[in-house]
Amino acid sequence: MATDARRKVPSVDALLRSEPGGRAAAALGRPLLKRTLASVLDEVRAAAARGISPPEEDEILAEASHRASWVASGLTSVINATGVVLHTNLGRAVLPGEAAEAARRAAVAYSDLEVDRGSGARGKRGTRAELLLASLTGAEDALVVNNCAAALLLGLAALAKGKQVLVSRGELIEIGGEFRIPDIMAASGAKLVEVGTTNRTRIGDYRAAASDRTGAILKVHPSNYRVVGFTATPATKDLATLAAKIEVPFLYDAGSGLLEEERGLDEPSVAGALADGADLVTFSGDKLLGGPQAGCVVGRADLLVRLRRHPMARAVRVDKMQVAALETVLAMHATGRRGELPVRRMLQEPLESVARRAHETCERVGGDLEGAHVARCESSVGGGAMPGVTIPSWAVAIRVPDATAFAARLRTGAPSVFCRVEDDRVVLDVRTVLPGQVPDLVRAVQYALEGDDLIEE
Ligand SMILES: *Cc1c(COP(=O)(O)O)cnc(C)c1O
Repeated sequence: MATDARRKVPSVDALLRSEPGGRAAAALGRPLLKRTLASVLDEVRAAAARGISPPEEDEILAEASHRASWVASGLTSVINATGVVLHTNLGRAVLPGEAAEAARRAAVAYSDLEVDRGSGARGKRGTRAELLLASLTGAEDALVVNNCAAALLLGLAALAKGKQVLVSRGELIEIGGEFRIPDIMAASGAKLVEVGTTNRTRIGDYRAAASDRTGAILKVHPSNYRVVGFTATPATKDLATLAAKIEVPFLYDAGSGLLEEERGLDEPSVAGALADGADLVTFSGDKLLGGPQAGCVVGRADLLVRLRRHPMARAVRVDKMQVAALETVLAMHATGRRGELPVRRMLQEPLESVARRAHETCERVGGDLEGAHVARCESSVGGGAMPGVTIPSWAVAIRVPDATAFAARLRTGAPSVFCRVEDDRVVLDVRTVLPGQVPDLVRAVQYALEGDDLIEE
C-alpha cells in the first residue's frame, strides 16, 4: 500500500517540464522553483510512505509556486503594532527618511567612500562617521564596523588574543541566541575568566583574578535583563583604575548606543563610560542611536590603531550604505535633531498624542463595533535596551472569539500587521505605528475582521 502511494509521486523534472511548470519557472526563476518543488515532493513522499496518497500535480505545483513567490516577493513591510520600539525581528531601528535617502544615493552611484577628493589619495571608509562619533562622545578616536558583536569580537581579538579576559559572572549575557559572551570570547581567541557570582561581583574579585596572563577587563552591560535584589557590581571607575594599575585595556560593551545621558532613558551612556575611564566602548548603530545596523567603537586612539590593523577588521567592515545612513544619523545627533529620529519620536511621543491616534484608529475601524475599544497599555523599548522598563501607551483592543487566529490573519494580511495578544484580546499598540500608517492599519484590521464575529462586551 505504502509502496503504491509512493510510486504515484511525480518527479521534479516531470513537473518542471509540464506546461504550468514551465510557466511558473519563467515567472519565479527555475532554480528557486526547482528547490521548492523538491522540498514539497519530499514532504509528499514522506506522507505517501505513511499511506497518504499524493495530491494532484497542479496542487503540488501550486504549493511550490506559493513558497517560491514568498521568496521572490522579498522583504515585506509590516506595521508594528506590538509597542516594542526596537523590535529585533521586525528590523530594530526605523531609519529617518534622509538617512535612507543617503543610503540610496550611495547605492545607485559612485561616491567618495574611500578617497580624498582633494588629493585623490586613498582614504578610509567611515571617516566622517568616526569623526562625528568621536566628537559626540568626547573620545580620542572611533571606528565603525558591521555590528556591535563584530566590534566586540574585533576588540578582543586585537587586544587580548591568547590572554585572559576578566568578566563578571553576572554579565555572561546572551542576546538573541547567537550572541553569547563566552562564545564571542572563544571565537576571538581570548580566554574567559569568570569573576564573582551571578548576582554579586566586587572589585576585589577582579583584583584576585588578575595576573600577568590577564589581557583585558571586559564590562558588559546586561541590556536585556536586570539582576534585582541582593546585587553588587563594581563602579566603572574602579574597574578603570584596576585596569590601569595592571596595565591592561578596559573594554566596555554598552550595547544600546545612548551617546550621552538623557532624561527618561535609563541606559549607560557612551560618554559617561568614557568619562569613567573605559578605554574602549562598543555599541550598536540600530538601537537607541536610531541608525542603521553598525558596530561603533570609541576610545583610545592607540588601541583603535590595533583594531584597524587586525586582519579581522577587513572581514567585519561596514558597507557603503550603512556608512551613508550612519553619517546622516550622527549628523542629526550633532546638530540637535535627534528628537526627529523615528526611534526617539516613538519613545518620546506624549501620551495624549498616542491616545489621539488610538481613538482615531478605533473610530475608523468602526466606532460602533462593540468589541473594539481604546485601552491603556504598556510599550517597551526592546532590542536590548532598558529591560523591564515600560512606557505607558494606548492601544486599540479588539475582542474576538479566537485572538490568536486573528493575530495570525493580521500578520499574513496585506498590509501585514504585528500585534500583541493579551487576555484573549488583540491589542494594537499605536505608539509604534508610524505616522501615515493609520489608514493601512485600519484597512488591515477591517479585512481581518471580515468573517470573524466580535464578542459583544
Ligand atoms: C545588542 C547588543 C550587542 C549586539 O549588538 P549587534 O549590533 O546586534 O551586534 C552586544 N552587546 C550588547 C550589550 C548589546 O546590548
